[in-house]
Amino acid sequence: MTAVFDTLSDPLPRRLAAGLSRLSVALRAGQWRLAEARGLSPTQAQALAVIAARSGPGRPAPRLSEIAAQLAITRATASDAVSTLERKGLVMRQPDPRDGRAAGLALTEEGRTAAQDAGDWPAMLLDTAADLSPAEQEALLRLVVKMIRGLQVRGAIAPARLCVTCRYFRPYAHEDASAPHHCAYVDAPFGDRHLRLDCPEQDPLPDAEAGAVWTRFATGASGAMSTL
Ligand code: SF4
Repeated sequence: MTAVFDTLSDPLPRRLAAGLSRLSVALRAGQWRLAEARGLSPTQAQALAVIAARSGPGRPAPRLSEIAAQLAITRATASDAVSTLERKGLVMRQPDPRDGRAAGLALTEEGRTAAQDAGDWPAMLLDTAADLSPAEQEALLRLVVKMIRGLQVRGAIAPARLCVTCRYFRPYAHEDASAPHHCAYVDAPFGDRHLRLDCPEQDPLPDAEAGAVWTRFATGASGAMSTL
């Protein structure tokens, strides 16, 4: 039977999109205030955070194209932001061992300090998330992972370094309901509350294998979740 509100309300996906849009407005406003207080634009602060997250021993320095893809901005906008960071002495270019004609981006000493601040999230957002119960936070994290993967599959955002697309991820490998998954990299069990959204050790699975792992993850707990 159709409830009265089924005809009065916008379809649920539209109201969810509207709600997510409200959250993104609050996030952008908070990030703007944080970045401004540090003398950076939000794009410069985000570029700094991406360079920091993707740098490390044994890893090739990220390229400009990677920054643009991760922030879903044009190469020209990324180039402007990085050039400003270079002028401020926070970022430097260095040869890319993968391609002698390309340059990788690295943080200076000062840039490393600035990046620690730039990677912060607005306190009001963290406080609001902390107001949710642990079970709600865990359930929301799982749904966020699902939405990020859905956007990735549709080509709307660059691939994130998610557990659920990682070759080391073994969904529902254990009986323990609080830690049913297994990370073969760390060789340890973990639960939904530990799912990572940007793991430096992530090694992406080829699409053909990623689909099967995703299906196992999405249906493993109850068999009731859609697989996309
Ligand atoms: S290596 Fe990282 S991304 Fe991969 S399963 Fe382990 S924790 Fe998750």
